[in-house]
Amino acid sequence: MSGRNSSELQVLCSSGQLLLQPLWDRLRTWEALVQSPFFPVIFAIITYLGICLPFVVLDFLYPWVPALRRYKIHPDFSPSARELLTCLGQTLYQHLVFVFPVTLLHWLCSPALLPPEAPEMLQLLRDVLLCLLLFDAEFFVWHVLHHKVPWLYRTFHKVHHQNSSLFALATQHMSLWELFSLGFFDMVNVTLLRCHPLTVLTFHVVNIWLSVEDHSGYDFPWSTHRLVPFGWYGGVAHHDLHHSQFNCNFAPYFTHWDKILGTLRPAPPPAWCCSCGGCPSNSGVLCDSHLNQKKHS
Ligand SMILES: [Zn+2]
Ligand SMILES: [Zn+2]
Repeated sequence: MSGRNSSELQVLCSSGQLLLQPLWDRLRTWEALVQSPFFPVIFAIITYLGICLPFVVLDFLYPWVPALRRYKIHPDFSPSARELLTCLGQTLYQHLVFVFPVTLLHWLCSPALLPPEAPEMLQLLRDVLLCLLLFDAEFFVWHVLHHKVPWLYRTFHKVHHQNSSLFALATQHMSLWELFSLGFFDMVNVTLLRCHPLTVLTFHVVNIWLSVEDHSGYDFPWSTHRLVPFGWYGGVAHHDLHHSQFNCNFAPYFTHWDKILGTLRPAPPPAWCCSCGGCPSNSGVLCDSHLNQKKHS
């Protein structure tokens, strides 16, 4: 920023870019790393494992911290070390052996260019939301197809359904075809919308966060589906139901496509809601539906 003159700063201020410019300037000081052919795969692995880590720690603490029990969707399930290592090993193997050569090819065809200006904050938020909505629609179609056509299910999607009780590292326990399909949907949207590189990175982080949360097995009062109003977002409770019942809740994040196609199934109430009868500590905390009932009574 120190190298910018006052007229440049005025332009940045007036366009709303100033909010993100310091962060973007900082990232551009690591230009050599960000533009290296190794960056996409390193970024994908580090982001994924970094987001999984808190949930893995919770799974290790779970036997010694009874308070965690009320937030678990399947209170009697805890992943074994073998299950954790199998999923971790598969993710690392697929990324290093298959994803890396593909991202290398993509890098050779179109090397990353880092523009000097950051995107506007509103533009970044709008593009991330649009990418999420497009990704949700694309994966919904892919997912329904891979459940309705038995050959597609058996050959490509069954691997992801091997874990009926979920844990964070099971998020990317999937066939190579499913992994590449998700990666393709991820990339095609940011390319079609001509997203700024900072928007692309933000979308990747948000997308990985939401998919890990979907598979975490923990339904907290602050989980994303409780923060988005009007039941627009399904999240962890809905996706967990998909893994146990197979024929409902096909969209990964939002609920509108399942509502339109009649495949939306409401998730059971969380154990920590005191009106649902499972609250062991009588804390008075209520889930959304009971909170709304109380407001309108
Ligand atoms: Zn499925
Ligand atoms: Zn899943």
